Order: sequence, then structure tokens, then C-alpha cells
Amino acid sequence: MALSSSVVVIGGGISGTAAAFELARRGVSVTLLERGELASMASGWTLAGVRQSGRHPAELPLASAAVTRWAGLADELDADVEYRREGNLRIALNETDVPTIREVVATGNAAGIAMLYLDGADAVREVAPALTGDLAGALFCPTDGHANPHLTVAAYAAAARREGATLRTGIAVTAIQTEGSRVVGVMTTEGAIACERVVLAAGVYTPYLLDPLGIRLPLSVVHVPAVQTVPLPRMLGQVLGVASGGFAGRQEVSGRFRLTGFSNPWNETWHDDDNVRPTTDQVRDTIEWATRLVPAIRQARVALVWGGLIDKTPDALPVIERTPEIDGLIVAAGFSGHGFCLGPVTGEILADLATTGTTAYPIAPFNRARLNSAHTPEAVASAVTLHG
Ligand SMILES: Cc1cc2nc3c(=O)[nH]c(=O)nc-3n(C[C@H](O)[C@H](O)[C@H](O)COP(=O)(O)OP(=O)(O)OC[C@H]3O[C@@H](n4cnc5c(N)ncnc54)[C@H](O)[C@@H]3O)c2cc1C
Repeated sequence: MALSSSVVVIGGGISGTAAAFELARRGVSVTLLERGELASMASGWTLAGVRQSGRHPAELPLASAAVTRWAGLADELDADVEYRREGNLRIALNETDVPTIREVVATGNAAGIAMLYLDGADAVREVAPALTGDLAGALFCPTDGHANPHLTVAAYAAAARREGATLRTGIAVTAIQTEGSRVVGVMTTEGAIACERVVLAAGVYTPYLLDPLGIRLPLSVVHVPAVQTVPLPRMLGQVLGVASGGFAGRQEVSGRFRLTGFSNPWNETWHDDDNVRPTTDQVRDTIEWATRLVPAIRQARVALVWGGLIDKTPDALPVIERTPEIDGLIVAAGFSGHGFCLGPVTGEILADLATTGTTAYPIAPFNRARLNSAHTPEAVASAVTLHG
């Protein structure tokens, strides 16, 4: 094989670029391979909320550590990633929604995350005056926030390159090569690359590279519509969500509203520019939700619409592990619509697993075996429908 690297990272989303950065700054020779452009899938399609609220307890230690990391990320990467810690509001539109929202507040508080229930529209509008007066209350988690996903991935990529990593786009991995039960390289659309370890962070396409190795990762894929407006005057700092978890939105630092709608099952094998677009019904529905919550958005012109795919596990928790079957293979996938926030910590964990084989982060709940056992946990309905 002509080319070689100690570690090959597959996937140029936030998980892969963060892993490449963490590995390179530890002095590891690392090559990242991305089939399209950096952030061309979930890490670009995302709403890019950075939140602890509404998380499964197993994810909270990672989310809390990530929120701490986000505060210093611009300095760490020497680039503006437009991170803003302005809170998250999960809206109860009516009395039926209130118990659901209050339960999320109680669960978060019990886990040590400070959040409160704002009772009534006036209390909510004191925090976010742009919201409608026609609502029952909201969860408010002040330590949640949001960031610019494209700037973040670009910043990780640039920092990784500065630390000596090689990042190549437009090159797809077609197979992970093994000898016995050990990783020896990857085959790509441009030939083979020898390596000792592979970090596989290929989002919805992760199972395609695991299947030939006899490793089953049960992901289902859902499609989410997204709408972005032209810039509007500053009116909303918080990330918005609703009790059902379907709609979410925020105002970017640019002033544009970034809105995501309800998900639907995705039954295609591959996505392309055409089949991933949302339908007019999905776009209308997303805009209706947004204007219902923030009436001023009615005046906004639409700048862009797109669709995004989410890699969903049965229990809406990710798989992050060094695979027991193949020595040198590390997998991070199945973030189920909330892996952007975790990115900085995911990168650190992947670098830990690729170098020492272990990590101080509590990742036991994210082993893949849990999904293959007869006791696969029940899907957590709110977490599964939730993105943002
Ligand atoms: C609409 C939407 C809203 C969301 N909102 C939020 C949110 O508010 N907060 C939050 O925390 N999370 C959110 N998420 C989820 C979050 O964006 C993802 O969990 C996260 O971006 C996953 O990053 P990743 O790097 O693991 O995967 P991806 O970003 O999908 O990256 C995987 C990369 O691998 C590449 N690839 C695939 N196969 C190959 C191959 N064979 N060879 C080379 N490259 C390959 C792909 O091209 C892709 O770029 C949202 C997701 C969507 C779609």
C-alpha cells in the first residue's frame, strides 16, 4: 500500500473533525477521509443547538462536559464558532403539554442541571419577548445555547490541519480492511491506505462499512425539513422547541432564523441533492410552527430550504465504542438528532479510544451490544422525536 497513517478517520462531520483534531494534537499521525465536503451531512444540516436539557441521564455527563468545552472552544480552535449560551425554551403550548414539560424540568433538576418552569405566557415573554402570548408555559434552561455548525466544523478541520492532520474531501471509503480480527487499512475510491486504527464516524452510512465485517449496527434513518430565513432584527436568543419534540428553531448570530420541522421515516438507500429536499407540505408545516411561536417571522423572506437525515438508534442513545470484534476499530454513530452538542467531547473520547483504548468518560451505556440483546431498551419517545 502506498499511503499510510496511524489512524484513519472516516467522516468529516463534527465527530470526525473533532477526533482528527484531538488525535493530531496528541502527536498521532491521522488522515481524515470525507466522501463529500466537510459538514455536508448532519453536521451541516443541523439546527446546532447545544443543550443539556431534555437529555437522557446517560448522556448528561457528556453533554455537561461538552457545554463546558463549548465555552472555550473559540479560543481552543482559534476561530469564531458563534457559540452563544442564551438558553433553551421548550414550550408548552397548552395545558395538555404542561405535564410533559414539567417532567423534563424535574428530571433535569434531579440530575443537577439548573432549569426552571416558566408558568404562563407572561413569564415566558419576560425571557423571550418575541414569543406569542398564546402559550401555557415553558422549560427554561439558561446554560443551553447554540453555535454555527459550518464554522465549527471548519474550525476543527483547520485546527486539525495546523496540528499536522491530513484531511481529504471527495474521497469515499469503500471498505475497512482487516487481517484476522485486526484493522490494517481502508480501501477508498482513490486506492488503499494502510493504518493501525480506524475511527468510523460516518453518520447514517456507518452500517454500510460495518456490515461486511459482520458487525450489525441497527440504525433507522429519519428525514427532517429545515428552513432558513433572511436576516431579521435581533429578537430571540434562546433555542425553541415544543413539547412533542418535533419543531425546533433559533435565530442565528447572522439574524437568520433556522427552523427544523417534524421528522418522517427515510426509506431510500442513498441520498442525493434531489431526494433529500423537503416537500412543500413539510416546508409549510415548519413555517406554520415557527410563525405560531414567533409571529414576527411572518414578515421574513425565506432564504433556503433543505432536508437533513438523522441516524437513530432504537433507544435514541449513540454507539461510541472500540468494537470487541475487530481490534483497532472505533465507532461513533447513532447520535439520534443530538450529537452536535456532544461533538467536542465525542472527539476527545474517540481520540482516547484510538490511543489508550479506554476513556475516563462514562461511555458504558453507549456500547453496541445493548442494541443487539434481547433486552433492547424501549425507545424513549420524547428523545427519539427530539432534535435540536
Ligand atoms: C435537521 C437536524 C437538526 C439537528 N439538530 C441538532 C441540534 O440542535 N443539536 C444537536 O446536538 N444535534 C442536532 N442534530 C444532530 C447532529 O447534527 C448530529 O448528531 C451530528 O452532526 C452528527 O455528526 P457526525 O460527525 O457524527 O455525523 P455527520 O455530520 O453526518 O458526518 C458523517 C460524515 O461521514 C461522511 N461519510 C459517510 N460515509 C462515508 C464514507 N464511506 N467515506 C467517507 N466519508 C463518509 C458523510 O459524507 C458525512 O459528512 C440535528 C440533525 C439534523 C439532521
